[in-house]
Amino acid sequence: MQVVPPALERLMSDLTRLPGIGQKTASRLALYLLRRPPAEALNLSASLAELHSSIQLCSRCFAFSENDPCRICEDARRNNRLVCVVEEPGDLLAIEKTGAFRGVYHILHGVLAPMEGIGPDELKIRELFQRVRSQGIEEILIATSSTVPGEATASYLIDHLSGLPVKVTRLACGIPMGMDIKYADEHTLSRAIESRQFIEK
Ligand code: ZN
Repeated sequence: MQVVPPALERLMSDLTRLPGIGQKTASRLALYLLRRPPAEALNLSASLAELHSSIQLCSRCFAFSENDPCRICEDARRNNRLVCVVEEPGDLLAIEKTGAFRGVYHILHGVLAPMEGIGPDELKIRELFQRVRSQGIEEILIATSSTVPGEATASYLIDHLSGLPVKVTRLACGIPMGMDIKYADEHTLSRAIESRQFIEK
């Protein structure tokens, strides 16, 4: 006997595919939406439907944006010769919140994880080297997280940038080992940007 109506069952199963949402949370969210006025569920579904049609990747920095190039890449007040390399769009938002960085970004969309089949070709790494070669970039600030895969990705980038005419810096003190940079507080992150260190090649 079907206890849960199929539409509710479908929604719950869709929700459990989201990160951090288990069966219990999925059923709580689905039942919550069911109890709210229908307009709320409709608004949510309209936002979801619009997600992919209105947001794309910026063709320069690979941030999610409604415009291409994105607002940051297009902003003439920013230093487009200083590029901060981050793992995820959430890291860009965290650094922007500090107001301490006036360059532009490059989003890798992940970190190297050979065991999971994620190599340089699965990330926006080739595109980064291409930018360095073609856009007159003077400094690459590597801001990957100080986790094992974050460090491995940073090392890979440093190795491969060593042959190119660009200064390479890294976020310095302030970020505890093992911490994902999007969870660092603004002060810590802003100090880490200010005290970034030059890396001998
Ligand atoms: Zn951009």
